[in-house]
Amino acid sequence: MVMEKISEGKTKEVFLLDKDHVLLRFKDYVTAGDGAKADIIDGKGVLNAQTSALLFRLLEREGIETHYVGMKDERTMIAKRLNMIPVEVVLRNYATGSIVKRLPIKEGEIFDPPIVEFFLKDDARHDPLLNYHHMRYLKLMNEEEARYIEGIVQRVNAVLTKVVERLNLVLYDFKLEFGRLGNKLLVGDEITLDAMRVREPQTQRILDKDLYRRGYPLEHVKSAYEEFLGRLRNVV
Ligand code: 5GP
Repeated sequence: MVMEKISEGKTKEVFLLDKDHVLLRFKDYVTAGDGAKADIIDGKGVLNAQTSALLFRLLEREGIETHYVGMKDERTMIAKRLNMIPVEVVLRNYATGSIVKRLPIKEGEIFDPPIVEFFLKDDARHDPLLNYHHMRYLKLMNEEEARYIEGIVQRVNAVLTKVVERLNLVLYDFKLEFGRLGNKLLVGDEITLDAMRVREPQTQRILDKDLYRRGYPLEHVKSAYEEFLGRLRNVV
């Protein structure tokens, strides 16, 4: 059966399954710098699909609504068809990445309470930061929806922080994307090491896509993703 591909991003293809569902097929691509750097890591798509599935199931068990329905095969997720909002919602527990470049904040500073930021999904503009006014003007979401999403992201943080701690790791930050289904806002996209920073507390060892961003060998990146998934399977 040939299915209609409705969109394709840097790391996933989206196929229409039926009027209410899509298939998300995780590719083996790894990219950084808004697509400026790209490589293939054999099997990465499977690792990310599996990681996402475990974390989405965990969120659902905790009462957080997501698009996750099930798995079609080891790299293909069945998901509710959402009307995706082209905004990346980032929550930061510890300072690293773009925030230490943009603001007078030092690497490793602790954010208590965590900082939530919104960015427009726009590679050509390098995903600019958005505030409530921008999002309302661009018809992305109104302030009430933005505040609701901030609440969901904080609940997701509580769940992810706890599970990552049980892996003896620290959750630095993560990115979520949301979509509309009727009048509901659901967590969509993926929850993987491509969009989440985790480190070992004592050694500061990195286990996420920062390894790729920093130029580590592809095998090293893959083994970190495998190690994370292996540890996750033991606790969820
Ligand atoms: P930063 O703004 O520091 O680059 O990223 C903050 C967090 O959001 C990190 O966990 C990072 O992996 C994630 N993130 C930011 N932008 C993107 C993006 O375009 N794609 C993905 N997959 N993750 C992103």
